[in-house]
Amino acid sequence: MGDDGRYHFAEDAQMSNKQAAIKVIKRLRGNGFEALLAGGCVRDTLLGRLASDYDVATDARPEDVIKMFTRTLKVGAKFGVVIVLAQGQQVEVATFRTETGYADGRHPGTVKFTGATEDASRRDFTINGMFYDPVEHKVIDYVDGQSDLERNIIRTIGKPEERFGEDFLRMLRAVRFSTQLDFAIAPGTFAAICSNARKITDISGERIAVELEGILAGPNRSAGAALLIESGLAEAIFPGFAGGQAQCAVSVLGQLRQRVDFALALAGLFAGCATEFAVQKCRILRLSRSRKKHIKFLLTNRGKLLNDRMSLAELKKILAEPYFWDLYELQRAIEKAAGGGRKGLAPLIALRRRIKALGDVELRPKPLLNGHDLIRLGAVPGPALGQLSEEMYIAQLEGVIKTSAQAEKWAIQWLKKHSSHH
Ligand code: ATP
Ligand code: MG
Repeated sequence: MGDDGRYHFAEDAQMSNKQAAIKVIKRLRGNGFEALLAGGCVRDTLLGRLASDYDVATDARPEDVIKMFTRTLKVGAKFGVVIVLAQGQQVEVATFRTETGYADGRHPGTVKFTGATEDASRRDFTINGMFYDPVEHKVIDYVDGQSDLERNIIRTIGKPEERFGEDFLRMLRAVRFSTQLDFAIAPGTFAAICSNARKITDISGERIAVELEGILAGPNRSAGAALLIESGLAEAIFPGFAGGQAQCAVSVLGQLRQRVDFALALAGLFAGCATEFAVQKCRILRLSRSRKKHIKFLLTNRGKLLNDRMSLAELKKILAEPYFWDLYELQRAIEKAAGGGRKGLAPLIALRRRIKALGDVELRPKPLLNGHDLIRLGAVPGPALGQLSEEMYIAQLEGVIKTSAQAEKWAIQWLKKHSSHH
């Protein structure tokens, strides 16, 4: 893996997280408690993938765990979760529990400490409900997770209607796991997502955004978008997003390169929509200011790169934009999705050639003259001065003026021409 070395680093970091978790498990057992690896890390290990983190489940109570380790964080102790700091790693240690009373469809009302079997059945999907004993190297599976894992299926543990009713976020999690793992959603589970899709708005925009990012930022995003649309989740999250717009989204997302930023993925999702509509729809996600700017830039400038008569100044200005290459990638995907073949891509190829020919020319040079210089030459402060600076900067970008002496001459000419109008 990774000839750039970065993946190796990630692998090492994960190995030590796993080792730290195993050490924690051994210590818990040494004190007479039961302790197992649980959830996502078991799934990922059985799939032969690296897990993002290794979580421990135990029958020790949070207060026992805190006593047993010198360095802990008690952020979620009330809900049965303690973070143990070991070997420079953070290991999440959760007491076996059930959660009841999801009055608002989001937060568990009360937590009851239980055994491993009940803890497995409170989890969302069968593939996420398994334990692993890293000492005996045994899978402990109370929910038939292994057979679903072998058949590549996302299925709720228990009745889907009930499980989604407890926590509607699970609907998006199902689509995310299906997209990331390229698994099918079991028919009964999918039917329950379709009939409850509208309730996704009970979940906060921030949490919706986290799952959407997981669905749309990865390489299988086109299939993920199709599931969001088919289930009705897409229209529930973004009212009015449907029909041709949705079809366009699936095909554009399918043409984007493998790794993209969430903002570029969202711009791809809204590639068939008006910018104002998309910007308004994104509000629910409570994105950061810079993400919103990023998306707006990409959508507003759609089509611009296809203009083969773009002036040199315009080209330099847009090239200097921080998200220029995302715009290029979005436009490339839009053209490919439109199916125009080589002809459709021709303007972009020509643009690339033009950019290459620019070499390493400065895209945003310092203006040859500043406001003070222009006032000294006779310009009057106000809108006219602004217009003069702007036009002169364009002349500079175009290469019409190259030195401050040339700029002065140019400015004096400009002032003459514009004063004769009065
Ligand atoms: P990832 O690799 O994306 O982190 P994960 O399976 O580790 O996947 P987490 O969100 O980290 O997912 O949660 C860890 C485990 O906690 C899950 O595997 C699942 O067993 C349980 N879980 C998490 N969120 C929920 C939920 N909303 N409802 C029920 N169980 C959940
Ligand atoms: Mg996880």
